[in-house]
Parts: sequence; C-alpha cells; structure tokens
Amino acid sequence: MATAAPESHLRENPFRLAQQQLYKVGETFGIDERLINVLRECKKAVEVSIPTSMEDGSVRAFTGYRVTHNIARGPSKGGIRYHPDVTADEVKALAMWMTWKCSLMGLPFGGAKGGVVCDPKAMTRSELERMTRRFTSEIINEIGPEKDIPAPDVGTDASTMAWIFDTYSMNKGHSVLGVVTGKPLTIGGSLGRVEATARGSLYCLQSVLERRGTSLQGLRIAVQGFGNVGSYFAKFAVEEGATVVAISDSGGGIHNGNGVDVAAAFAHKRGGGSLSELKGGDAITNEELVVVDCDVFAPCALEQVITEANADQVKAKLIVEGANGPVTPAADEILEGNGVLVLPDVLANAGGVVVSYFEWVQGLQEYFWKEDEVNARLNEIVTRAFDETWATYEDRKTSMRMAAYGVAVQRVAEATVTRGLYP
Ligand code: NAD
Repeated sequence: MATAAPESHLRENPFRLAQQQLYKVGETFGIDERLINVLRECKKAVEVSIPTSMEDGSVRAFTGYRVTHNIARGPSKGGIRYHPDVTADEVKALAMWMTWKCSLMGLPFGGAKGGVVCDPKAMTRSELERMTRRFTSEIINEIGPEKDIPAPDVGTDASTMAWIFDTYSMNKGHSVLGVVTGKPLTIGGSLGRVEATARGSLYCLQSVLERRGTSLQGLRIAVQGFGNVGSYFAKFAVEEGATVVAISDSGGGIHNGNGVDVAAAFAHKRGGGSLSELKGGDAITNEELVVVDCDVFAPCALEQVITEANADQVKAKLIVEGANGPVTPAADEILEGNGVLVLPDVLANAGGVVVSYFEWVQGLQEYFWKEDEVNARLNEIVTRAFDETWATYEDRKTSMRMAAYGVAVQRVAEATVTRGLYP
C-alpha cells in the first residue's frame, strides 16, 4: 500500500506572501509603483537536475534551485536549503527576504537563495557530498565571490559549505575563499559564525527589553526548532537568566514550566538524538508549542507556523523570528491587533548574514579577526539596524515588520534609481 506524502509546511505560496508584504511596504512608504513592479520579481532563477549515485547502486536525479532576487547594492548572498518541501517559489521568497535583510543591515549585498528537494536525514554523508558537488558544478556559472555567495540554511552546515568551496576551487584551479560563507574554521571560516544568527536574535530581544526597562532575567521563552538558530538562541537566553519552557525539533519536543534543561538537550542533539526522547518535561507537539503559555515565542524552524488559524491563540506578547517567514501576513494583522510585538526575520535573524559578510571580507583580505572583535562588530551592526527600525516604527506608528521592510526596501529602491535602468 502506498503511503501518503507528508504534508508540506507551506500552506500558502510563500512568494505571493513576500510580494504581498512588498506591496504593503510600497503603499505605507509611498514608493513609486514602477519600482515595486521591478522589486517584486527575481532577477534570475535557475533550476537544475542533480543526478547522484546512491549507496544501493541506483541513480537519483534531485531538483535544485538557485535564485538571485536583486543585486542593486552588491553581489547576491543567501543560504542553501536541503529539505523535502523545497519549491521554486519558496526559494524565490527566501531570496527576496535576503535582499531586504542585507539592505537593512547596511551590507553591500543583494539577496539570493538556493535549495535542493531532498531529505538529508535519509541520506548518507557520501550521498550528500556527491549531490552537493554535482549541484555546485551545475550552478558554477551562477556563483562566485563577486557574483553570488551561498551559505548554510536548513539541512546544510559547514561540511556542505566545505564541499561547495572545494568543488568551486578545483574547477577554478585555486582556492577561492570568498565563494561561500559558513565554512569550517580550518578552511577560512570566521570565528563566531556558527552562533551569529542566534546572537543577533538575542541582541534584538535585549534591545526591546531595554526600552521597556526590563531584562531577560526570569522571562519565559518557548523555542521552536533546535538546529543552528534555535539551539544557540535557547542556550544564550538561559545564560542571560531566562527560563526556556519549551523546545522542539521536527519530531516534537518537551515542555516544562519550570525550565527545560537546555544544556542536556544540546548534548542529546549533538549525540544524534531527537528532543521527543528527552526526559525532564512533558511531550509537546509543534502545534501546541506555538500557543504554549510563555512571554516570548521564538520560531526558529520553518515558514508559516503562525497563520490566521492559530494567531489568536498565541499567548506570547513578543515574537522573535529566528526563522524566515514564520508569520503569515494575515497572522501579522491578528497579532498586531492583540498587542503582540513581532521582531521580524529581516532584523531578528540577520546576525548570520552579518558574520557571513565578515567571513567574506576576511577571506578576501586573507586576514582573520579574533572572536570578540567579530561579536563586537556584529553587535554594532545589529543594534544600529534595530535602532533605525525602532525609530521608523515609532515615527510611522506601524508594525516592526513594516518599519524594517520600509527602511530596507527604500534603500534598495534608491540604489536602483541611482544606478538607472540598463540599457
Ligand atoms: P537547521 O537545519 O540547523 O535546524 C532546523 C531545526 O528545525 C531542526 O531542529 C529541525 O529538526 C527543526 N524542524 C524542521 N522541521 C520542523 C517542523 N516542521 N517543526 C518544528 N521544527 C522543525 O536550520 P537553521 O539553520 O537553524 O535554520 C532555521 C531557520 O532559521 C530557517 O528558517 C532559516 O532560514 C533561518 N535562518 C538561518 C540562518 C543560519 O545562519 N543558519 C540565518 C538566518 C535565518
């Protein structure tokens, strides 16, 4: 009997949602419609077939994408996702959000994203390596240190970046450090890159709390997704005195109102375990976690986890978007109506691309910085972007998302106008 395919996490077309957000930014900030018509499209989208030899002797042809949304402010930058639900429109949405994120942070980059439709958890390391190397050679004319620079995202990590770096370099005949970021430290990675996204999320949360005259001490936080972003965010939050009341991975998670043992969860995940096996709390599903009783909810997994179907039941009064696109536009309106403050993805998870920028700069200069230098510069850039967003939020009496997107889109629009339309 055939088993039904698992349901995708994408309930709505993410690219349409990203475009809807852009139209709203255009209206709110009075941006010329002709510019919005340009910015709503992706500059280039490449789809490739990736034939890969599998351990059982078969050959599977995986589908891969690399999309550049915009390069008005510099070469495009964005992660590569390995996940069964990857679609062309998901990659386009993620590429567009990268443009806004790089712009908000003031980085000299445009936005891009890549993805391969595959289940990395069901593949061996050698299968993943062969697939990654073939994918790299299929998109070798699209990427490059002055052109488009990939990085890790869901389902990819430093090893994946090492294989891309090596394949690209072998084809060029010399090591090209600037072609990817998120590389292992031994081959030109940056200190602080692994923790950077979570660190940036924490800086944003601390900035809001400071403005409210409070701190992380005693704050109850629920974290969805315990990968790169979620696990470090939970760890840092606990170090600052918060209580992490719930955590999860793709198989569900655990809840404990008195605090989950995040250090134990960290060790358990590093050992290859799943969080649902963890002791010291009650089992919780990912759906339950979204509406669990807490002060702060940090979605750090995939898109569209807060929708119009559950937004009304969210108990947290602050949402930190560690993930890209976890709140749909319809849910945004409900949350705003309920007085929930959402720290949007382009601000709250931008720490990763900021340190990726540092890694790219260090690679080009072949001169590497100390970790406290990396973290101090990260703090400076994220805090400046937070302050600019907050000022616009107060000035315009709009949401933090509209404020962040507004600042970002206007910068890209300005660059586009300054460069002019070719030919
Ligand atoms: P990751 O692969 O390291 O971790 C993803 C985590 O989410 C894993 O714990 C996985 O089990 C869990 N997960 C998967 N499907 C889930 C589901 N349906 N429900 C609940 N949990 C699920 O990925 P990551 O790099 O931590 O990325 C997470 C999010 O953060 C993504 O939206 C990504 O685009 C975004 N992001 C990542 C970075 C980065 O530097 N890695 C930077 C900015 C934004």
